[in-house]
Amino acid sequence: MGKEIKNDADVLIIGAGASGMAAAITAASAGKRVILIEGSKEPGKKILATGNGRCNLTNEKVSPAAYHTDDPRCLQKILEAYPTDKVISFFENMGLEVHDRNGYYYPLSDQSQTVLKILKTRLAELPVKIVSDKVCEGVASLQGKFMAHTYDQDYYGKRLILCCGSRAGGYWKHRVDGYELAKSFSHQVTDLYPALMKWNVDPGKEDWASLKGIRINGGVRVPAGSLKEYRPELEGTETVRDPKGLSFTGELQFTADGISGIPVFQAGGAVAASLDGGLKEDVTAYLDLLPVISDEELEIKQYAITRMGRFLALGIKPEDLTPERFFGGIWNKKILTFLCVRAGISETEAFGVDAEEKAEKILKLSKALKIRIVSTAGIHEAQVCRGGVLLSEVDEHMESRRVKGLYLCGEMLNVDGICGGYNLHFAFASGINAGEHAVC
Ligand SMILES: Cc1cc2nc3c(=O)[nH]c(=O)nc-3n(C[C@H](O)[C@H](O)[C@H](O)COP(=O)(O)OP(=O)(O)OC[C@H]3O[C@@H](n4cnc5c(N)ncnc54)[C@H](O)[C@@H]3O)c2cc1C
Repeated sequence: MGKEIKNDADVLIIGAGASGMAAAITAASAGKRVILIEGSKEPGKKILATGNGRCNLTNEKVSPAAYHTDDPRCLQKILEAYPTDKVISFFENMGLEVHDRNGYYYPLSDQSQTVLKILKTRLAELPVKIVSDKVCEGVASLQGKFMAHTYDQDYYGKRLILCCGSRAGGYWKHRVDGYELAKSFSHQVTDLYPALMKWNVDPGKEDWASLKGIRINGGVRVPAGSLKEYRPELEGTETVRDPKGLSFTGELQFTADGISGIPVFQAGGAVAASLDGGLKEDVTAYLDLLPVISDEELEIKQYAITRMGRFLALGIKPEDLTPERFFGGIWNKKILTFLCVRAGISETEAFGVDAEEKAEKILKLSKALKIRIVSTAGIHEAQVCRGGVLLSEVDEHMESRRVKGLYLCGEMLNVDGICGGYNLHFAFASGINAGEHAVC
């Protein structure tokens, strides 16, 4: 069917990623003739890498609280009109079965290639002409029509939907990106930062590299004072959400020069923005290496006493215990060595008379291990981009407030979510939304 469409369509879409394919399927299902221009050889390549190859495509907890944006009110309207169920139905109606893992939705096959295959198969069944391996180098609005040009051809449409994503993940390397195209219609683009990525830390006096490869259930806290958005002197661009700062829990993964894992990823965008926002020397975070207890002083004390009691029952006096024996059943040995060095307590010498205080000191340290973040992984290693075209410059149907008939969707907008299917949800939801409303 695609062949019948020459270079002039009802709806012209730039970018065949998650949002562009969703927009094309929706518009074409409503009877529109669609041209979908994609700069890479294969549409939807990034989808294959999502969710570690399983594609976490949405989440039952989708709400503005899971996202960072300049316009939470507009985002709320979009997410209310296009909630989790609507994205799931979009896929189910095309033949894809999904399953729910504690609120995180994946294809039943647990393979991202099934998601991509379904999208591509449906596109082939609809009046959509896919022009792949052609970078859109410029866009314009001419006499009631939109025009997109590639190195050898111009394409026209009554409506134009920009779905160009970001440079996150290192997939888009060409000079002209979606931000440039949006700017040619006078749209404003915020500063851009990597988000959902690992941090590089100051190794300090201890042997940080020795922790490489360790995975531990824990948490991170980035205090308000370390974050650009919470510093009164730097305020103005971002919304204050939690005056205490950011805290996330989950599996921490130590690397030779930094730290990774879901909790680190979740705070990544805010940390990257802070590093770039003039806080280079003071982006500090705290690791929680013992999430089974709270950081209340009393609870830490009680935990130490309870453990001492266990050893007493074995006939071992507290003063005869070494940190190695006392904590050996809690942490990986390398973590204990690290904590003991930081605390200035010998790992192998008996506690002696101040056993309780020494045990508490190490426990307290493990609840708030201070690290200094010197940099983060760059945009090519990040899962998403923080920042983009201001969301306040589109309405709740994704239509530009600057140019009638122009729509913007997905990650190229200033909307980024935490890990858990939120980013693909927004890409699909905004694409379906634009595809439904780009009527002509
Ligand atoms: C490793 C990795 C894992 C991820 N895992 C998850 C996950 O499990 N769950 C989740 O919710 N999110 C995940 N994400 C994020 C998610 O993939 C993105 O947020 C989402 O794909 C954005 O969709 P999009 O359509 O806006 O942009 P994209 O999917 O990036 O698509 C944009 C398309 O536009 C094309 N394009 C750009 N500029 C031009 C141009 N000038 N001319 C022609 N074509 C152009 C690009 O080639 C691309 O195909 C992950 C990301 C990465 C990198």
